[in-house]
Amino acid sequence: MEILLTNPALKAVITDVSEVAGHIWTKGWGERNGGNITVNITEFADASWQVMPALVPAIAIGCTLPQLKGKYFYAKGTQKRMRDLARFPMANGSIIRITDDCAHYEIIADQPVMPTSELPSHLMVQNYLLESGSRYKATLHTHPIELVAMSHSPEFLDAKHITRTLWSMIPETLAFAPLGLGVVPYEVPGSVQLAEATLNQIHDYDVVLWEKHGTFAVGQDIMDAFDQTDVLNKAATIYLRARSMGFIPQGMSDWQMSDIQRIFSLPTQRPC
Ligand SMILES: [Zn+2]
Repeated sequence: MEILLTNPALKAVITDVSEVAGHIWTKGWGERNGGNITVNITEFADASWQVMPALVPAIAIGCTLPQLKGKYFYAKGTQKRMRDLARFPMANGSIIRITDDCAHYEIIADQPVMPTSELPSHLMVQNYLLESGSRYKATLHTHPIELVAMSHSPEFLDAKHITRTLWSMIPETLAFAPLGLGVVPYEVPGSVQLAEATLNQIHDYDVVLWEKHGTFAVGQDIMDAFDQTDVLNKAATIYLRARSMGFIPQGMSDWQMSDIQRIFSLPTQRPC
C-alpha cells in the first residue's frame, strides 16, 4: 500500500520535503547523492502503522536512543539524489519505525529503501530534541557553497565571530537565524566524532557549520531547517561578493544589531 494515499496530512509534509530537495539541487547544494533529511512523522501515525510488517529485518542503529521508542521518521535513502527525491520522495526515501529496544529500526513504507548512512547522527539529534522537550521535527544536512567556502578560513571557525559577521550583513539574517551558526571542526563524514560534536553544538544552535564539508540544521519542520540554512548562506554570499569586489564589508554596527534584537524581541534560545 502506498502510505501517502490515505494520509493527506502526511502527504503535505512529504511534499514539503520534496520541495526542499528540489531547492537544494537548484542551489547547487546537493551534488550527486549529497545531503540528508529526516523528519519525525510520529504525529501522523495511526494504529495501523503499528502492525505494518517490516519490509526487511530490523537494522541496528548502532546506539540506544530511549526517546525514540515507537517513533516514526521519514528518512532520505542512502545513495539517493536530492533531485530524484524532489520528484519521487517515496522511491528515494522511506518511513522507518524505531523498535521497542530503542536500538533498531524497521522500514515499513513504501519500499525497502535503505536510509542514509548518516541516520545514526540524525537520530541522535532527534533523540536530543525530544529529550529537551523541543517540538522541532526536522534535520537537514546539505552543502551550501558559500558557507562551506568560509569554513576554509581558520578565521571563521569561531562560532561567535562567524555568527557576528553573518548577522551584520543584512538585518534579516539576525531576524530569521536568531540563534546564529555553530561550528564543528573537521571530522570524518559519518563518524561518531562528527555526530557527537554536532549534537554538542545543537544544544545551542539550530544550524551548525561542519568545517570544509557543509551544514547540519534542525527546524520545526523541513522548511524551517532549510530557511535558516538559506538565510545564513545568503549572508555568506553577500560577504564573499563584497570581498570579491576588493573590500571587506563594513557590516552593521553592534548597536544596529542589538536594536533589531530588541525591536523584534528575537529569541536567544530554541523557541519551542
Ligand atoms: Zn555531506
